[in-house]
Amino acid sequence: MAEQKKLGYDDTPMLPDVPWHVHDGNRPQPRVVTPGTFATQDAPGLPPSDAIILFNGENLDGWKGKNDTPAPWKVENGYMEVVPKTGDIVSREEFGDCQLHVEWAAPVEVSGDGQGRGNSGVFLMSRYEIQVLDCFENPTYPDGTTGGIYGQCPPLVNACRRPGQWQVYDIVWLAPRFAADKLVSPGRVTVFFNGVVIHHFREVWGPTTHRKLPTVTPHPPVGPLRLQDHNNPVRFRNIWYRPLKGYDVN
Ligand code: MG
Repeated sequence: MAEQKKLGYDDTPMLPDVPWHVHDGNRPQPRVVTPGTFATQDAPGLPPSDAIILFNGENLDGWKGKNDTPAPWKVENGYMEVVPKTGDIVSREEFGDCQLHVEWAAPVEVSGDGQGRGNSGVFLMSRYEIQVLDCFENPTYPDGTTGGIYGQCPPLVNACRRPGQWQVYDIVWLAPRFAADKLVSPGRVTVFFNGVVIHHFREVWGPTTHRKLPTVTPHPPVGPLRLQDHNNPVRFRNIWYRPLKGYDVN
């Protein structure tokens, strides 16, 4: 058997707070993931190899509507589309800390203005909305702008593409921590919108509300993803997430 090549060093200083030397060769190797591809207007991106697929363009088996009924939205041509007035849908998967990828498109036919144009929403853990809206040449109140933490924090910039075009959210979510009935640390979110950072580790004060301050109440460490029916036929495709864990071991 070939002798294993020695990696790194064991005569270097210890790093603070972890049991490893600088350049420690015995530190666990990062897990190998095959990366995916970026989305284009013609095709969704390919998820990375360890992604958990929530919607692959074929059916809504992974989703449900009100009272556990089958999700009532339309699926065609590789995307799902909100059927107005049928209600929000939620994923059957429940998760907390994650990297989440969502592609969406506002209706190509522009109707309405302000909050009435291409409105939907990506609700992390069913509670915390990253706003979906067509804000291409469509101003609204800033904390309700596309990519805003609705009612709490506007996006850093408005990086909207034209309505009808596919747009991409890449979200990194750190769920709030509770101990008994107390908030220990709030949720924090980082969002890239069409490749542009619009939130950077931004604190989320509490669940999304309309015209009110959020009320923080403890909830489980995982929850389903919720997509909003706001009466506009917004489309979604290529929705996946990767649970985030492991900082404590390597
Ligand atoms: Mg919304």
